[in-house]
Amino acid sequence: MRFLTCCLATLTLFLALPCAAAEQGRQGPPRNVILFGWDGAQRAHVQECLQRGELPTLKQLSEEGALVNIDVITGATDTKAGWTQILTGYHPQVTGVYNNGQFRDVPQGLSVFERLKAQFGPDFVCAAVIGKREHCGEIREPFKRKLTDEEAARIEEEMQQQQERRRQQRRTAQSGQAKPAAAPAPAQPGTQPRAGAGRRGAAGKPAQPGAGRQVIGRIVEENGEKYLVFEGSPYYTMHQACDVWEYGLMEDEKVGTRALELLEKYKDKPFFFFVHFASVDHDGHRYGENSKEYNDALISNDEWTGKIIAKLKELGLYDQTLVYVTADHGFDEGKTSHAYAPYIFLGTNDPLVRRDGMRQDIAPTILARFGVDLSGLQPPLDGEPLTQPATKPVQKAPETKPVAKGPKTPKKPGPAASGGKAAQPKQGAKNPRKAGEAAAQPAVK
Ligand SMILES: [Zn+2]
Repeated sequence: MRFLTCCLATLTLFLALPCAAAEQGRQGPPRNVILFGWDGAQRAHVQECLQRGELPTLKQLSEEGALVNIDVITGATDTKAGWTQILTGYHPQVTGVYNNGQFRDVPQGLSVFERLKAQFGPDFVCAAVIGKREHCGEIREPFKRKLTDEEAARIEEEMQQQQERRRQQRRTAQSGQAKPAAAPAPAQPGTQPRAGAGRRGAAGKPAQPGAGRQVIGRIVEENGEKYLVFEGSPYYTMHQACDVWEYGLMEDEKVGTRALELLEKYKDKPFFFFVHFASVDHDGHRYGENSKEYNDALISNDEWTGKIIAKLKELGLYDQTLVYVTADHGFDEGKTSHAYAPYIFLGTNDPLVRRDGMRQDIAPTILARFGVDLSGLQPPLDGEPLTQPATKPVQKAPETKPVAKGPKTPKKPGPAASGGKAAQPKQGAKNPRKAGEAAAQPAVK
């Protein structure tokens, strides 16, 4: 009997060991981190899916670590503002990326990729595999060219015509006559900037849903000279720090499959991967947030996240890898837009994450877990690690879009500082929307 008890005790200990060891392994600095992006995943919808048992991977992660609420307090609830903030830890005033229409190439050195390369050196692997071809991942270098007066006049005229065409399209769309035709590729007046691959409107590629805002150049005058200027894409500088940077893959299967290949390739080195799935956002724009398609896309994101975690386990890396799942923005309830959708989340196997936070807190969390001394970073990060008590107020986004906001007043720091309420759980049954209810796409610049 005593022997049996002893055996049982040993067996219990043996069974408990791997789990305890894993947790202990994840208490200290990780060898690797994978940041998963579920672009456009609305917090309330994710919670509903979890309650229905539709997202087993996220559920498992949150049981090993945490699932916390993240609110968007500064920057638009769109893709460029979102991923830029998540990948840097700064407000738009620092990065220059306010929304999909007002942005620049993020100044050198501010991204998680660059910080980690600086910390660990060239043998540390940084990779990004991105579903979108516009607003997340696209590589376009900044461009500036001096113009003659004749060129400037011609280009200004072209731009005006373009603007008028867009106004016309909007009027047509608003009067409900028809869905506006897919916007043509942005006219590039004068000499084309040397654009990277993936420029929108490339032959044979369907327009990315929701990517209605066009990037056009502008003419600036400096010391009496006129220049044609195109801002670089937000990712232009940071992508140069990465060993792998692929975007425009569109489908979850392509993103996931590529991530699996890269895990195999880099399994012997420490790494930071950014794996971005676009299907939730795309289906939200096509079919609406309450559609079956949007729901299915969340399930697909979860499945692919699960396959990648399974690969980590197969390679024996999971216990040394912290996994974070987050979104750049949510979705307007029941709509095909995310004009104001500040409620997102962070699901993770990181046992040290314990509190709610804001979108700028994700990068500091990753950097701090890797052992980067945040106090030494310049400029000081706007966000704070979610693994430590906050020293700044943890703000909740108000339910309606704050009035005083927007790119026109960049000096004004973001929306309301207080009084906001957390997102309420959604109520009532889902009403799938009809396909093709296009979101209003305000033109920019
Ligand atoms: Zn979108």
